[in-house]
Amino acid sequence: MIVINKKAMSSSTSTIPSIIAIDGPAASGKSTIAKLLADSLDYMFFDTGVMYRAITWTALQREVSIADESAVTSLAKSVLVDIQPASKSDGRTCDVFVENQDITWKIRRPIVDANVSVVSAYPGVRSALAAQQRRIGMRGRVVMVGRDIGTVVLPEANLKIYLDASAEVRARRRFNEIIARNESADYDEILTKIIERDRVDSTRKVAPLKAADDAVIVNSDNLNSDEVFQQIKALCI
Ligand code: C5P
Repeated sequence: MIVINKKAMSSSTSTIPSIIAIDGPAASGKSTIAKLLADSLDYMFFDTGVMYRAITWTALQREVSIADESAVTSLAKSVLVDIQPASKSDGRTCDVFVENQDITWKIRRPIVDANVSVVSAYPGVRSALAAQQRRIGMRGRVVMVGRDIGTVVLPEANLKIYLDASAEVRARRRFNEIIARNESADYDEILTKIIERDRVDSTRKVAPLKAADDAVIVNSDNLNSDEVFQQIKALCI
């Protein structure tokens, strides 16, 4: 389902938007769709969630307490997160390095999922990372994915999408992905974690998860990823 509000309609033009922001809750399929869109437009794909994940992983690795806001914030200000185009065809959408170490898959571990929303709620962490994200986004020809791209990082984005789906549908998709990799998964546990991450992301004081007033809201509950892609692509032309 697509909901187009009046502001979204009035900001549309006949040229391909140069800055495309895709926000939405955990496991809504933003990265998959954004990567497809970026490739089809020959734009850069930038998943800002990997930056919060990289800081979280580095803090855990260095045994910095996640509850220690000032230590985690110092880390976010000093650690260089390097994001490069995907170098392998193992399902990754980009390569993520911290101090020359490839941490692309490490940042997807459940321990990072469980801690990243606490880290990303720290205002100092957000301002350190959002400044870098904005600098990259302002170059244009970019599809940028996150929670606050259309609202805070790049409010001037030419097209803003808010990709939504119910927590149950998102948990089911995540469950199926894990089972397809021949790993074990517990649907109820995945659902509980998704609901908790949504709660923390949408209730934090700084840059909470929400749709921008001028975003096009796409609900993918009854759509497969190709249908979502086609609907979003149609908004770009
Ligand atoms: O999108 P992904 O699930 O990889 O993001 C991981 C976490 O990073 C989110 O749950 C959220 O807490 C945080 N995040 C954020 N702002 C963004 C991108 C991600 O707060 N722009």
